[in-house]
Amino acid sequence: MDFDLGDGAAELRLRLRGLIQENFGPNFLGAFTNNPNDLDATNSFCRLLASKGLLTLAWPKEFGGGGGSLWDQTVVREEMWAHHEPRGAQYMGLNWVGPALMAYGSDAQKAFHLPLIAAGDVIWCQGFSEPEAGSDLASLRTRAEPVGGAQGDQGWIINGQKIWTSYAGMAQWCIIAARVGGGERHEGITMFLVPMDSPGIEVRPIRSMLGPHHLNEVFFNDVLAAPDSVLGEIGGGWSVIKTALAHERVGIARYARCERLLSLIGAELSPHWSDLPSTLHVAWVRALVQVRVARLLAYRTVHAQERGEVPDVAASAARIAVTQCDQSVAEVLFSALDHRSLEAGSDAPLRGAVEDHWRYAQAATVASGTIEVQRMIVAKALLRGESV
Ligand SMILES: Cc1cc2nc3c(=O)[nH]c(=O)nc-3n(C[C@H](O)[C@H](O)[C@H](O)COP(=O)(O)OP(=O)(O)OC[C@H]3O[C@@H](n4cnc5c(N)ncnc54)[C@H](O)[C@@H]3O)c2cc1C
Repeated sequence: MDFDLGDGAAELRLRLRGLIQENFGPNFLGAFTNNPNDLDATNSFCRLLASKGLLTLAWPKEFGGGGGSLWDQTVVREEMWAHHEPRGAQYMGLNWVGPALMAYGSDAQKAFHLPLIAAGDVIWCQGFSEPEAGSDLASLRTRAEPVGGAQGDQGWIINGQKIWTSYAGMAQWCIIAARVGGGERHEGITMFLVPMDSPGIEVRPIRSMLGPHHLNEVFFNDVLAAPDSVLGEIGGGWSVIKTALAHERVGIARYARCERLLSLIGAELSPHWSDLPSTLHVAWVRALVQVRVARLLAYRTVHAQERGEVPDVAASAARIAVTQCDQSVAEVLFSALDHRSLEAGSDAPLRGAVEDHWRYAQAATVASGTIEVQRMIVAKALLRGESV
């Protein structure tokens, strides 16, 4: 199978790797560590990428992008994830908040928000899940009441609670799903763009093995959102969510990180790699096959996006594969390193990347919709006779 995306892609990869090497030390494992310098470094790096036209390479020029292809964007996300995502939390704004704004935003919303994302100046978080509404997102209960008429001419008062909100403590803006009016389930959902420093928003971090910043509860107590904070139609939030999730599910190219870790482990254990049991070598090969399958499924989704489709089912199929390869690779790396696998820090094998990868891999089949739910989406499409 030829994964080559052409000469331009190869050049782009080299350029990105050079920039990452120049701007991050060998111990960098992402923005979400106890070291605040890591977050600062990722923010500076986003501004650097923006100044070189690489941050929003595939966005249309009219929105501050480079007018490149989605394949260019694929190369960028692969290189970023392979090197522990040096864009930090901003990958969310780039991958799906921006595209959702392009698809559903008013002219004023696009003019305000897109240049900020394109400049690498803003972190977004996603307020979808609630304590009783995760897989069954349509049962969410956060409410937005219009002020000054049904269209919210004087704004919206938002009350409710979100949970598992990644990066809420560092984000400047949140895209939140709230219920408006009497509409049931999907019909009643509306999306709002809300600044995180609005009075009435309280962020409470949730301690977890993912480390700081990842998970938070966010409480909305009489938060006044601006009249123009609705993204898309009032009551039309479900299509915004579907678009956003299709972009999100394919935008996290952790298969690239998996492949890099698999390729590094042999050298790390050299010259003893060949002495390891053959069962381990077989598991390594199987994991590599899973990684390549995940990559192909992601490419299929990109191809559909290129045709202007919203490939939500294909994105779910890709997401299933990516999360599975995340966990398979974590297990292979653990078996290979044996008692050293849990070591963290710069003296650890692969400078702690294995321990870091394993921790996140456990959550991979839950984040962005659980693997069971992704399977349901794919199964239902197949039963409807759609090709997936
Ligand atoms: C690392 C991480 C980051 C996250 N970041 C965000 C974020 O930034 N913003 C945000 O809004 N949310 C975020 N989430 C939340 C995530 O989207 C939800 O955890 C997920 O959708 C599952 O919802 P839940 O936790 O309520 O579990 P539940 O929906 O209660 O599910 C519990 C179990 O039941 C199973 N289940 C439920 N319904 C079905 C069904 N119909 N068929 C078969 N099985 C079913 C599930 O698969 C799961 O195993 C994040 C989660 C994680 C782990």
